Amino acid sequence: MITPKRTQVLDTQVDCINMTGALKYVDHHILTGNKADTILAVNPEKIYALRQNRFLKDFFSKAAILIPDGIGIVFAMRMNGHKAERVAGADLMQQICAQAEKKGYRIFIYGAKEEVNRGAVERLRERHPAIQIVGRANGYVKEEGMGALVAQINESKAEILFVAMGSPRQEEWMAKYLDQLETVRICQGIGGTLDTIVGTVKRAPLLMQRLNLEWFYRLLQQPTRASRQIKLLRYVREIGIDRLRSLMAGSH
Ligand code: UDP
Repeated sequence: MITPKRTQVLDTQVDCINMTGALKYVDHHILTGNKADTILAVNPEKIYALRQNRFLKDFFSKAAILIPDGIGIVFAMRMNGHKAERVAGADLMQQICAQAEKKGYRIFIYGAKEEVNRGAVERLRERHPAIQIVGRANGYVKEEGMGALVAQINESKAEILFVAMGSPRQEEWMAKYLDQLETVRICQGIGGTLDTIVGTVKRAPLLMQRLNLEWFYRLLQQPTRASRQIKLLRYVREIGIDRLRSLMAGSH
């Protein structure tokens, strides 16, 4: 099975994995693994963040699973001849919750503002009545509270930990504390997903998601993200140039 094929988009690694494959990995690792593995999301914005942050680049390269979270990444993978599907981090989190409900895996949810964290846990319990969310903490725990937080996660015996603090904050936390977690086997970085669960930030309507326009919806909803989204244009240009180069190399 089960380790997916890792490929490259521009200078960033990403896995050829779909939703089913990712869920299989989660299951397998919870049953057989002996340490916490990470699932991180790759999208065009991340490519630029990784270029500017050596630590983040290293940490991403060590992740167990790098999901193709952005449609721009999926298109680039397809142009390079891979069978790629988008695995949105927010969708994967929901699917992991559904799987955990069925199989009885314990979940800990760490990150976001107190009311968002609490609200997201309530919503997840409504959606998945048998889900075992065995602990939660907001994303504003101070450094001196970290020992207690780690103890709380260990005492909860959670196998799955979602960390929702945005990037690179969530990865920095994982790099520092994952080794101290005794029962966690899967740790997914989920960025702002808890905000979308409670509805303070909305995801695009399904039709827009299907038309691959979620990025555009996010731009309309949070115009302050425009400077982040400008990078998309740069990305399209870079991918185009990269494609041209490989076509020219192929024609010699
Ligand atoms: N956040 C947090 N602790 C902090 C700073 C931010 O838990 O010290 C949370 C914030 O409340 C929000 C999320 O991190 O829920 C940031 O989401 P963003 O959309 O920026 O993340 P992305 O998905 O873009 O990585």
